[in-house]
Amino acid sequence: MAKLAPPERIQGGAVLCGSAKSAAASLGTATRALAAALFPPRCAACGRPGAALCQSCLATATLLSHPQCRQCTRPLTYGDQCARCRLEQRRIDHLYVPYAYTPPILNAVHRFKYANKRYLAADLAALAMSALPPDLQVDFVVPVPLAPSRERQRGYNQARLLAAEVARRLDLQLDTGLLIRLRDTPPQTSLPRARRLQNVRGAFRALRKLSGARILLVDDVTTTGATIEAAARALRRRGAVWIGALALARTPEERSDVPPNPDGLLL
Ligand SMILES: [Zn+2]
Ligand SMILES: [Zn+2]
Repeated sequence: MAKLAPPERIQGGAVLCGSAKSAAASLGTATRALAAALFPPRCAACGRPGAALCQSCLATATLLSHPQCRQCTRPLTYGDQCARCRLEQRRIDHLYVPYAYTPPILNAVHRFKYANKRYLAADLAALAMSALPPDLQVDFVVPVPLAPSRERQRGYNQARLLAAEVARRLDLQLDTGLLIRLRDTPPQTSLPRARRLQNVRGAFRALRKLSGARILLVDDVTTTGATIEAAARALRRRGAVWIGALALARTPEERSDVPPNPDGLLL
């Protein structure tokens, strides 16, 4: 008997196998190509058509500096773990973030997140993935869930759209049914650091055993990493052995009060 390819979990918890999976993949590719042809993304900073950010605007984006702490991406002078992460015993093994959350990256994220430009997920996922090492070993990709009320309000979870693109590009399984968010939390940017950590503790639950699993969490933006850390703790409790997290940008400490939709942004 022919061996079936392993099932792939897709949005909403459905499972696709074999030919249905490849047909769905072809349809997805065709739909994306058609959408890109009909609605080419505009650069979020200068408005030029072609990509979420054009090459010349992207060249002005602030890259996070290296060497950095592997768990929070803050700059380090030696080693790979900062004193704060060591003290807090972070459960995240590696946080991968290429950019600072400042213009023009901030403009692109705002269009994606607050202006319903869902098709920017492909370009933004590709930019985020520039921080991943080529030898990354992961079993599956998990988006950081939004609270159901927040997702209903926005109509989509931007982290899930990014995670779907990351999984597709890495040819990995996307698991959207594993991790749930038990409660909503106030926007992290409005809280001081200690409150943020307290605020998200126990906010997530993993719904099945994960013995030996290596997982890549995906979110759009991280501030202190408190949300990602709370999600990682939930996955660790069910037996995950390695947890990496990927985000497109990190809020600089001095800009942790960036408002959700500052004036003057091209949306
Ligand atoms: Zn531009
Ligand atoms: Zn650190």
